[in-house]
Amino acid sequence: MTARLIDGKAFAADLRARVKAEVAAMRAKGITPGLAVVLVGEDPASQVYVRSKGRMTREVGMNSFEHRLPAETPQADLLTLIGRLNADPAVNGILVQLPLPGHMDQSAILDAVDPAKDVDGFHVLNVGRLAAGQKAMVPCTPLGCLMLLRDQLGDLAGRNALVIGRSNIVGKPMAQLLLRDNATVTVAHSRTANLPDLCRRADIVVAAVGHARFVKGDWIKPGATVIDVGINRTDDRLVGDVDSDAARQVAGAITPVPGGVGPMTIACLLANTLTAAARANGLPDPE
Ligand code: NDP
Repeated sequence: MTARLIDGKAFAADLRARVKAEVAAMRAKGITPGLAVVLVGEDPASQVYVRSKGRMTREVGMNSFEHRLPAETPQADLLTLIGRLNADPAVNGILVQLPLPGHMDQSAILDAVDPAKDVDGFHVLNVGRLAAGQKAMVPCTPLGCLMLLRDQLGDLAGRNALVIGRSNIVGKPMAQLLLRDNATVTVAHSRTANLPDLCRRADIVVAAVGHARFVKGDWIKPGATVIDVGINRTDDRLVGDVDSDAARQVAGAITPVPGGVGPMTIACLLANTLTAAARANGLPDPE
């Protein structure tokens, strides 16, 4: 059996098209959603992300505000900019591109963003709301993974899900989302014992480890759905956290790298900005 490839690129294009249609409807009411992206420093990967976020924001008809600050910017200046964006009614979403330079206190910066404009879902209030089962801004990468899983599997209730990785950006919010959808969730990390055995029991595997081809083919339960979040550059190409050639022989469905989770992240960022704009203007949440 060869696993079905989950086409995140096509799913993301469809999601962006739906966002674009909603933006057009909002603009007809005189509202143009706006996303501000703040980049501090010259990290090459971050520059690529920020550029493509700006392009896709404009493509769906939203305003894109890009703020580039030098790496040595004092934290106080960044906080002043965030305060200005918080107060600006044309800005519905604020994204501070990570990683920040070492002299900055990342959580102080993230928590300075107005939670209503926190389209990355990293503000501690949104983290808490998600954990408490309340309406929250949800981090984009795990939200994209959840959409792909629901599309593949329908109801996730009662499924055994294994999340490998416990970062605030991917692993922890992914676990919360799966729990909210009534999956039975295990979270693995670098101190987990018997990871291969845990993996062999999982109907759903979400790998967010940051090590190339870390999850082996013989760890996968036959027919399982595998979401590979990893982006690792090796041998001049991108590979995921799953040994995909081997896993494809066993899994029921798997996301490719690239073309799986990656495109979903930006599409979900646009969807979150649309939601923030709707809420700011007293409109119902978009579907
Ligand atoms: P982090 O480095 O923040 O977290 C990695 C997690 O993996 C940690 O919780 C760590 O455990 C765990 N881990 C490390 N080694 C092992 C091991 N041997 N066994 C089990 N668990 C282990 O990474 P991120 O969550 O930020 O990102 C993960 C991957 O996803 C990266 O490849 C990144 O590039 C990619 N990514 C992709 C995105 C996309 O849009 N497609 C977006 C964001 C990330 P511990 O906590 O114990 O240290």
